[in-house]
Amino acid sequence: MDQIPPPIRSLPPPNQSKWRSFLQIVGRTTLITVALSAGGFYYYIYHERQPGAQLPFDSSKKTVVVLGSGWASTSLLTTLDTTEYNVVVISPKNFFLFTPLLPSVAVGTLNARSIIQPTRYITRHKARQVSVIEAEATEVDPVNKTVTFTDNSEIKGNVSSTTISYDYLVYGVGAEVQTFNIPGVKEHACFMKELSDAERMQRQFMDCLESAAFPGQSSQEVDRLLHMVVVGGGPTGVELSGELHDFLEDDLKMWYPELAGKIRITLVEALPSVLPMFSKQLINYTESTFKESKIDILTKTMVKEVKEKSVVLQMPDKSVVEVPCGLVVWAAGNKGRKITQDLMAKLPEAQKNRRGITVDEYLRMAGTSGSIFALGDCTATSYAPTAQVAAQQGAYLARCLHQMAKKDNLNSQLASLELSAVEATTPEEKKQAS
Ligand SMILES: Cc1cc2nc3c(=O)[nH]c(=O)nc-3n(C[C@H](O)[C@H](O)[C@H](O)COP(=O)(O)OP(=O)(O)OC[C@H]3O[C@@H](n4cnc5c(N)ncnc54)[C@H](O)[C@@H]3O)c2cc1C
Repeated sequence: MDQIPPPIRSLPPPNQSKWRSFLQIVGRTTLITVALSAGGFYYYIYHERQPGAQLPFDSSKKTVVVLGSGWASTSLLTTLDTTEYNVVVISPKNFFLFTPLLPSVAVGTLNARSIIQPTRYITRHKARQVSVIEAEATEVDPVNKTVTFTDNSEIKGNVSSTTISYDYLVYGVGAEVQTFNIPGVKEHACFMKELSDAERMQRQFMDCLESAAFPGQSSQEVDRLLHMVVVGGGPTGVELSGELHDFLEDDLKMWYPELAGKIRITLVEALPSVLPMFSKQLINYTESTFKESKIDILTKTMVKEVKEKSVVLQMPDKSVVEVPCGLVVWAAGNKGRKITQDLMAKLPEAQKNRRGITVDEYLRMAGTSGSIFALGDCTATSYAPTAQVAAQQGAYLARCLHQMAKKDNLNSQLASLELSAVEATTPEEKKQAS
């Protein structure tokens, strides 16, 4: 009988073969995942760079004019279905500014470019072309439904002011810094509202540090230069004080070790507590954290004057003291812009609130026939003037405008059906029209 030849290679033990197939499955899955992710990423980048053709302006559609490119207006623009409307954006800034990170630019931990997004980038991704105009709206005429705007930038063409009509106006111009006409604020304090404010503060802040590090500086002068006074115990002032403190803790010790222990931050607030619009729990937390961080909080203290090298304070016991400091940052609240005040003055019966524009629950400006919607910091509502509120209002209004467009479309279809019913003469036409 022929003998069966022995196998050339013995089969791997069963355990080894299981591992091998398991590793093969893992390898293939990883490969497929990587390939799909790379494809998805490539498609995303391609789509971002080449968003495709947009619908042109359509004269049969209503025109929505959006004032501002801040939280409220940008949120509206992002959510709005532009197939339904022609949209025009007018703002003195052709970008959206992420305000919560402004203090980080001010202390130099973030680059200014990383907290802005060009408005044209957003509009380029909309279904219909959106006209973006870098200009400041100077007048709104709620009766004739027009907006006049002016190019206030450094370089102008031969036309720098014009007027356009709107069907709906989205009014999101925000607010400006309230100085209460206190002497020296505009001249000597830094604001914290615009990108240019943060850049200015960064320059001055670094200048204070470098001047304090200058050889031979008296200890009194070093103390003055390293004393930072933040005025306003609202969210902006609190955030800024915290950001300053973190910068001093994290970076200053490394770059200016000789100055690190000498910096002082004082937060001045006229009311009895910081963050008065927030809960008691949050107020206590903020106060105790600031105490631990050695940030002095002076409540019930009013600024009387800001000088080049000091700030004059009226203390709770009414005594007046002059405190030397290197930098004063003013974050003491908002007031309505001139254009807002002018617009409200045109509707004196309906617009009496000194805090801002009165709107109904659909954000329609009181006193107008529903053609002006106001949102964000320029309004007076029961909500705190925050980015969250402004962004939510913007998205909500975009959805409302979508519903309004649907209703308009249905109405015009109904009207044309009624018209064809009236015009129908033959029994066949009458049957179709009904
Ligand atoms: C430093 C800082 C930190 C903040 N941190 C937070 C935070 O952490 N969380 C939070 O919820 N909120 C925060 N806020 C508040 C928040 O930024 C505001 O509530 C929010 O910006 C309001 O949005 P808005 O769209 O009404 O106004 P804005 O965002 O101020 O936008 C107004 C827009 O209108 C434009 N504009 C001005 N004048 C005209 C004109 N005449 N015509 C046309 N356009 C005009 C402006 O250029 C701007 O684009 C912070 C604010 C600051 C300053």
